[in-house]
Amino acid sequence: MRTRVVVLGAGFGGLELATVLSEALGESLDLVLLDRDDAFVFGYSKLDVMFGRQPAAAVRHPYRDIVKPGVRFVQTTVRGFDPAAKRVVSDAGSFDADFLVVALGAELDVDATPGLRDGGHEFYSNAGAFEVRDVLAGFERGPAIVAVCGNVFKCPPAPSETAFLLHDLLTSRGSRNATEITVVMPFGAPVPPSPDTSRAILAAFAERGITFVKEARVRSLDPGRKVAVLGDGRELPFALFLGIPVHRVPQVVVDSGLSAHAHDWVKVDPATLETRFPGVYAVGDVNGVGTPKAGVFAEGAARVAALGILSRIRGEAAPERYLGQGSCYVELGHGEVGRVDVDFLSGPRPTGSYRPPTPALFAEKGRFGSSRLERWFGRQPEAVSR
Ligand SMILES: Cc1cc2nc3c(=O)[nH]c(=O)nc-3n(C[C@H](O)[C@H](O)[C@H](O)COP(=O)(O)OP(=O)(O)OC[C@H]3O[C@@H](n4cnc5c(N)ncnc54)[C@H](O)[C@@H]3O)c2cc1C
Repeated sequence: MRTRVVVLGAGFGGLELATVLSEALGESLDLVLLDRDDAFVFGYSKLDVMFGRQPAAAVRHPYRDIVKPGVRFVQTTVRGFDPAAKRVVSDAGSFDADFLVVALGAELDVDATPGLRDGGHEFYSNAGAFEVRDVLAGFERGPAIVAVCGNVFKCPPAPSETAFLLHDLLTSRGSRNATEITVVMPFGAPVPPSPDTSRAILAAFAERGITFVKEARVRSLDPGRKVAVLGDGRELPFALFLGIPVHRVPQVVVDSGLSAHAHDWVKVDPATLETRFPGVYAVGDVNGVGTPKAGVFAEGAARVAALGILSRIRGEAAPERYLGQGSCYVELGHGEVGRVDVDFLSGPRPTGSYRPPTPALFAEKGRFGSSRLERWFGRQPEAVSR
């Protein structure tokens, strides 16, 4: 009997999980990987497109290219699932599983911030980021704000990276003196688990004249007056507003009963990533395991969940425990890439160490993308963004 695994979502988590199981089980696996999109895009590639370093077509990696024993990709929208019955309903029909993996990521709730849709530009979706490229091409002067609208968001370094890349773009066009750049973030420091990384980012902000507004969120925008309103009522004028929308649990996950409401990230056993339903796992941004919402953590969690599934199939001892460790690259502009190595779950509190930028780290970030494409798609990738 082939083991039936249904994976909801082909992002970092879904792709890694499918890869580990395919490598271990080959054709004795019957894994269906469902995603509504036709291609995978690395989160950081959005910035590459926004800032004109890559064309949109070069950062889309089509799922039809996946060649893996025991794995079938189906492009479809998941409409509902029952974790008790391990049954999924999609536009392409229903699927029954022995093991069900929820890897649907975090959804962006643009309308939770009144005025964002009309007065600003979100750059966390593919479509949003790709559109911002043209917006930036026409931006010449006035205050620019890069702001977070919710308490939880993907890739904590990304707002800072966006500000650095905006600084570089405007400097190269000779218009930096006609703008002020402000970053608004809900945290007290740019990367809270790593004081060294935060210090390096704050020093780079100071060097470049970028203002950091900490412990604040943008609550709404007034498109007519062109001001962003913070949670405490303060107002910041803007000519350009680049916003990170409120993140929420996908509605289909709330409807399944795995979470109680839009901000109740799916509870899992932190060691195994299994939900309260036996044989049902939640990996990546969709879960509330306590790690940052980032691809490297989704990937690590998927690996542990896959090993857990394998141990169940084989009747073996419990697999390795999830430690919430990962390395994130941090772009400081000027072509510089540093790295923060964080450990969330193995000690009493999260820790993070910082490696300052070197040419080797710049190259390492490039290999990070190409190695994933090779592994997940089973082919040598063509163009790979950094
Ligand atoms: C600007 C930016 C920069 C980033 N930089 C980094 C970085 O440098 N390093 C890093 O590690 N992380 C980075 N991230 C974060 C990273 O992209 C995410 O944390 C990661 O993709 C999460 O993986 P996941 O598998 O949980 O979810 P996702 O990768 O979001 O995958 C979820 C999948 O589910 C699909 N889906 C959702 N709902 C449905 C449905 N109803 N039916 C069918 N399919 C559905 C989606 O199409 C999607 O493909 C960045 C993110 C952004 C926005």
